[in-house]
Amino acid sequence: MTRVHQIKVREVVSETAEAVSLIFDIPSDLTRRFQYSPGQFLTLQIPSDRTGSVARCYSLSSSPHCDDRPTVTVKRTPGGYASHWICDNLTPGSLVTVLEPAGNFVPRNWNRDFVLFAAGSGITPVISILKSALATGRGKVALFYANRDRDSIIFARRLQDLFRAYPRRLTVTHWLESERGLPTPRGIAGWAKPHRHHDVYLCGPQGFATTVKHGLAHLRIPERAIHQEEYRSLTDNPFEHHTPALAVLATVAEPIQPSLTTATVTVDLDGETHRLPWPRTEKLLDVLLAHGLDAPYVCRESACGTCVCAVKSGRTRMLMNEALIDEELSQGLTLACQTLPESDDVHVSFDQ
Ligand SMILES: Cc1cc2nc3c(=O)[nH]c(=O)nc-3n(C[C@H](O)[C@H](O)[C@H](O)COP(=O)(O)OP(=O)(O)OC[C@H]3O[C@@H](n4cnc5c(N)ncnc54)[C@H](O)[C@@H]3O)c2cc1C
Repeated sequence: MTRVHQIKVREVVSETAEAVSLIFDIPSDLTRRFQYSPGQFLTLQIPSDRTGSVARCYSLSSSPHCDDRPTVTVKRTPGGYASHWICDNLTPGSLVTVLEPAGNFVPRNWNRDFVLFAAGSGITPVISILKSALATGRGKVALFYANRDRDSIIFARRLQDLFRAYPRRLTVTHWLESERGLPTPRGIAGWAKPHRHHDVYLCGPQGFATTVKHGLAHLRIPERAIHQEEYRSLTDNPFEHHTPALAVLATVAEPIQPSLTTATVTVDLDGETHRLPWPRTEKLLDVLLAHGLDAPYVCRESACGTCVCAVKSGRTRMLMNEALIDEELSQGLTLACQTLPESDDVHVSFDQ
């Protein structure tokens, strides 16, 4: 995979007793490859005596519009492995193996009004979006941020400074479990009512996400209109690249003709166009990787949105979709890791 690089930790900032930010130095020859959008994440390779390594995604808490260097913020997960390893081992000067920025939790229009929900370390991509919206857009931003107690609020000071700088555009509500108990759907609905026409972005543990979705359902905001980043540990390890065994590769030398078992796909990727046979039971990403193409991917489970591409012509279907909302589906976007062909000829583009 050519999307793997080593970058140096420039600074480690202690955010709370349980969370650190890692500020990276990007060498000048990689600047272009590490350009990112607010809401995207890096995938870090963490060494392990047991498995060689594990891969974990960490959202960028920095904003390309306001911060000089890409930064991720990692909170210790109780009983976890990688998050503790990072907090205990990385220091200024450490080299970290990472994948280039990826992900689809990214607003396309900065002039919208935003309503943002975060809990715990879920603030990481949300603060990147919040800072970017304030710096580049003209809309209002309302943040609902849930934490266990006052000491566990990550970026408390930064949020206060932003509120002082943008008092007319930014609303910040801290919901502390120690003072008010867990948020409830009714509480969420009451808080969100004035913001119900805003674009919704949500990141936090599953229980919190479910509560927010139930709360927003009271306001007739359907789940499929909510942009959500779901934190989970990868089961696959994209650093240990393996080419899936596709029986079809044996016949690749033959002229490409759609058949009962095989469609054809034209793929725009990194400025080049490729035409390949696409077995009707194989997922698009597997086909591309089997042909040695450097298609972007991280989780391969439909969650992270890294392998998103646009269907330009032809018909496809997805086996699973946790990353794309209705609006994106109607624009023809699909997740290569879950996509099968429905028509004989399909044209997809990763170059957007
Ligand atoms: C898109 C995305 C963005 C994210 N952004 C953030 C973020 O900004 N901040 C943040 O804090 N988190 C973020 N996460 C969550 C993060 O990726 C991890 O899931 C989280 O840090 C927990 O990882 P962990 O290894 O500590 O815990 P777990 O994954 O719960 O650790 C337990 C797992 O590690 C395995 N394990 C235990 N010991 C070892 C060993 N020695 N070797 C190998 N495996 C072992 C166990 O078998 C078990 O599977 C994000 C996740 C996603 C998908």
